[in-house]
Amino acid sequence: MSKTVTVEVGLGARAYDILIGPGLLAGAGETVSARLPGARVAIVTDGNVAASHLETLKSGLERGGVTVAAAVTLPAGEKTKSFEHLQEVVDAVLGARLERRDAVVALGGGVIGDLTGFAAGIVRRGMDFVQVPTSLLAQVDSSVGGKTGINSARGKNLIGVFHQPKLVLADSGVLDTLPIREFRAGYAELAKYGLIDRPAFFAWLEKNWQEVFEGGDARIEAIAEACRAKADVVARDEFETGDRALLNLGHTFGHALEAATAYDGTRLVHGEGVSIGMVLAHRFSARLNLASPDDAARVEAHLKAVGLPTSVADIPGELPGPEKLFDYITQDKKVSRGALTFILTRGIGRSFIAKDVPASEVVAFLRDSLE
Ligand code: NAD
Repeated sequence: MSKTVTVEVGLGARAYDILIGPGLLAGAGETVSARLPGARVAIVTDGNVAASHLETLKSGLERGGVTVAAAVTLPAGEKTKSFEHLQEVVDAVLGARLERRDAVVALGGGVIGDLTGFAAGIVRRGMDFVQVPTSLLAQVDSSVGGKTGINSARGKNLIGVFHQPKLVLADSGVLDTLPIREFRAGYAELAKYGLIDRPAFFAWLEKNWQEVFEGGDARIEAIAEACRAKADVVARDEFETGDRALLNLGHTFGHALEAATAYDGTRLVHGEGVSIGMVLAHRFSARLNLASPDDAARVEAHLKAVGLPTSVADIPGELPGPEKLFDYITQDKKVSRGALTFILTRGIGRSFIAKDVPASEVVAFLRDSLE
């Protein structure tokens, strides 16, 4: 029988637990009332997640004595991270007369978690909130660390606040209804922690990834290790003034590819962009003589084995040329005196923040990668 693993995010007065294991939705009432005694809650979710999991969570909360004062079901998808839906959530929370010591519960993937966390951060100048992440990406990344927000027409995640949850309930069983493509996309972020600074974890994933996909204890252990890694970085650098940037490994190239495909999820979802981006970051590091090309080959072999795209050629449809891709990179990255900040690596589990990467090298590398 699988047990629940607890990982603490050590943020002093704002510290909280991440619980990882099966059956956490059904037992949510007891867990929430132990940490937030007397709280009433509003649940925010999306249509896909509501269909399989809303009733389980609602009855789990009510069985444990937590009153569900409202439940809001929003459309699934990135477009939901908008002012329009933010307003809908804020209105629902105020309409249910929730007080500051009550709580908002995000039941869903990163989209619902980011939007709901932001709403909780601004209603009554900050309400308690609980993350109940239902995608693998949300369980290993977005639900932990307190970054919340919505998108602007000028770019992704440009409007938001840091607002830490009071509790994260990562129910490993809810992932059984997640589409396989989304599971794989989340797996890219899971593998990322091994590549940043946990080489033994990466080696463990190379051996055990099939069991992680199947479920059970290996899945719980993988999620827990990812949460430990994220909690470590967040506790060191909550507001991303230093080390937290390491979590962007693979994201510079990945974001450029997402922008180049106009965020069309039929062509590329975020985690797939990160998968290709991590391979490119390792290849680029090898080209700069920082790491061995064998490491890049090992990363590529593993991500390919789990079924993730690993090269630009794996993206269906036309892509813009290297100069245009470089433009996309510089849209969310400042070029200062012809140089950029990048997450590079000296080998598996040896990533670092490089502050002076020549723009000319990046363009030349993109040109070769697109050939
Ligand atoms: P998502 O929330 O859109 O979920 C992906 C899809 O899976 C959606 O269609 C959703 O309805 C569905 N889904 C989720 N759980 C399901 C389940 N158990 N069963 C069936 N379907 C399910 O996307 P995501 O990949 O979870 O998150 C991406 C978002 O996270 C992006 O907006 C990104 O900016 C954000 N993000 C935030 C942080 C952070 O630190 N705050 C970190 C990484 C990513």
